[in-house]
Amino acid sequence: MIHAMHVHPHDIRDEGAAVVVGNIVDRAHIKTIIAEATTLEERHPYPRGVLPHNPVRGVFVSHATLEVPFGGETFRDLAVRPVLSPAAADGQDYLGSLRDAAAGSGAEVIPWLKALNGAFAGGIDRVCVRTISGEPVPTWLCPTRPETAEFVLRLVRSVQERYQSSALLLDRLRYPDWSGANVNPERMLTCFCDVCRKRMQLDGIDLTLLKRSLLSLRAVSPGGLQEAHNRANLEMIERWLAFRQARITELAGLISADLRDYNQVTGVNTAFWLNLWPPSFARFMGQDYHALGLLCEGAKHFPYHRLGGGADLAGLVDALVPERVAREPMFQTVLGLLGMPYRLTYEQFKADGLPVTFVAEETSKAKSAFGADKGIFTGVQIWDTPVSEIDRAYQAAKLGKADGVFFYCYGWAALAALDAVGGIVAPFF
Ligand SMILES: [Zn+2]
Repeated sequence: MIHAMHVHPHDIRDEGAAVVVGNIVDRAHIKTIIAEATTLEERHPYPRGVLPHNPVRGVFVSHATLEVPFGGETFRDLAVRPVLSPAAADGQDYLGSLRDAAAGSGAEVIPWLKALNGAFAGGIDRVCVRTISGEPVPTWLCPTRPETAEFVLRLVRSVQERYQSSALLLDRLRYPDWSGANVNPERMLTCFCDVCRKRMQLDGIDLTLLKRSLLSLRAVSPGGLQEAHNRANLEMIERWLAFRQARITELAGLISADLRDYNQVTGVNTAFWLNLWPPSFARFMGQDYHALGLLCEGAKHFPYHRLGGGADLAGLVDALVPERVAREPMFQTVLGLLGMPYRLTYEQFKADGLPVTFVAEETSKAKSAFGADKGIFTGVQIWDTPVSEIDRAYQAAKLGKADGVFFYCYGWAALAALDAVGGIVAPFF
């Protein structure tokens, strides 16, 4: 059983590497630290509250920058280049400091990278995904474009060469969801760039029908739902979902092969781990558990039940239907689309999230799709939740046969929550 804790760069910069390692090893009894090499556009903590033990600030907003101080030559010849954070541009290597501090405690640091999502410079307008109405999403690369594969392979290889860690966790190898700097459901409906449109047509997808079908999903009126469930519409949506899964799997295959080559040539043994949405959501994001399981050594998924599966479901429902009265039927529609059999009202969900059994069910689905010899690591929420729920979620992950539990996350959680984690994992320490 692997136990790991996620950290963000500002945790280390604000508290100091020694304090962070001390809290994670001595209080939480964890020796695997998953450290963010590229941030997201994100409020810390999300979606509310303050950082409970940060001595410098209550809230931090990150901007999807690269946190590794690579020189300009690393990405110079590519169509798109990552934007470095001011600290990384200044030469600061927080991952290196963290690794050095962790080594003294027998702990290790695993870089956590974002594949397609980030702040980019260069020809991003040409390489990014486009929504159904043709709007660019300039923080998200289109997985179909060859320029994207060049960038992701360079990023992964550069980080692997620099840190030579025992594993790399690759996140955001998927299409956009509805959240970002703000909640926008249209970000779910990508990619309609010229390359993807041509490729979809070659695959026999009728773009006019597809667009009509996707837009009808947003309707909550009985007529709209009927339209959405029309057989031709559903078939076109299924083909579009399969198209997107194939694009993500193809890219994962290139990364997996490149990592294996590197391992073979250098004798370094870096495992390829993916960060995936829980199985009920994954196919809507372009992630095919079965196909991806063949390409990696393990995956973390994040059924943060209080939030609604790692997904901000309430944020989605509120953005889809501004009228309060229409939110209950929309919530039930979304639960139905996700195949979630929970009998709870929107108000109950907003107060308590999904039941903790969600953690076991999603873990079990992930295990059976991935195959017995590949690891499934379950993300357990330790912020914005009563401390008693942490053990319940942990036990649910075990019930689902998780091979590891990744606690999320150090900086958002109270010190009491870290102590609770320490109590739970102590027998394994
Ligand atoms: Zn595209």
